[in-house]
Amino acid sequence: VTATDQAGRIRVQVLRSGSGGNAILVEAGRTRLLVDAGLPAEQIGRLLAPMNLTPADLTAILLTHEHDDHARGAGPLSRAASIPVVASEGTLARAAPFLGGAPTERFITGAPFPVGDIQVDPFPLPHDAAEPVGFLFTVAGVRVLLAYDLGDLSAPLLERLPAADLILLEANYDPRLLGVGTYPWFLKNRIISGTGHLSNDRAAEAVLRAARGGRAQSVLLIHLSDVNNLLPLARDTVRWALEREGIRAVTVEAVRSNGAGPTWEALRPVRRTPAAAAVDAAAP
Ligand SMILES: [Zn+2]
Ligand SMILES: [Zn+2]
Repeated sequence: VTATDQAGRIRVQVLRSGSGGNAILVEAGRTRLLVDAGLPAEQIGRLLAPMNLTPADLTAILLTHEHDDHARGAGPLSRAASIPVVASEGTLARAAPFLGGAPTERFITGAPFPVGDIQVDPFPLPHDAAEPVGFLFTVAGVRVLLAYDLGDLSAPLLERLPAADLILLEANYDPRLLGVGTYPWFLKNRIISGTGHLSNDRAAEAVLRAARGGRAQSVLLIHLSDVNNLLPLARDTVRWALEREGIRAVTVEAVRSNGAGPTWEALRPVRRTPAAAAVDAAAP
């Protein structure tokens, strides 16, 4: 493997996803971004160990928003590894109790920036947090989109979906399971609101829009509720939506609630369609 190949390789590993805590590793060359640190720092260290990594091997911690299942371990991990916490101004302000004076760097939502070998495009998401974002990561023309903790499909997300080779998308709940479940009404209303969480059906709608004329190879459904969802239900809701339209080139998997995901790796875009080329041409 040549140095160029290494630089062009992007690897994504969901270490943990669910209401119990979220941490996702995005790696290219020697740049390793941890997106969210919603677990105790020691636990994140244990999840990195099987990949022969320690927190000191991380380049930065990126936060999507300040909720505890995304930010609770950020301060201790940042201090232990001597790496910055990178987030929007609103997130940094509201996450301050978790950060405890850790070094921070601010990005502007909507303004792409590089971290080492990875281009990071933070875009706004509708969620009940100070300044929540999703990320579109680009390495040598390969793009990975991450969007979780969102109550609706917003324009900035829909614009970026067709550009992504890998889509990590929330499929939080099945509306019927949520309806008959034990959550109190205020919580149910919060989840289904436009600034709450994304249902399986809405996730399927987003994936369909990405698959039609986009270049998605793989979809990984994340942040599944362990109370209001079932893994096969989330996965098959999205698979069936694609199948009904005769789309077979996109693989769909779901990450078990509060579990780890498969490793996704790509050297370069695998499949090119004229529509994808048009998306590339239009990309900044
Ligand atoms: Zn969350
Ligand atoms: Zn949240």
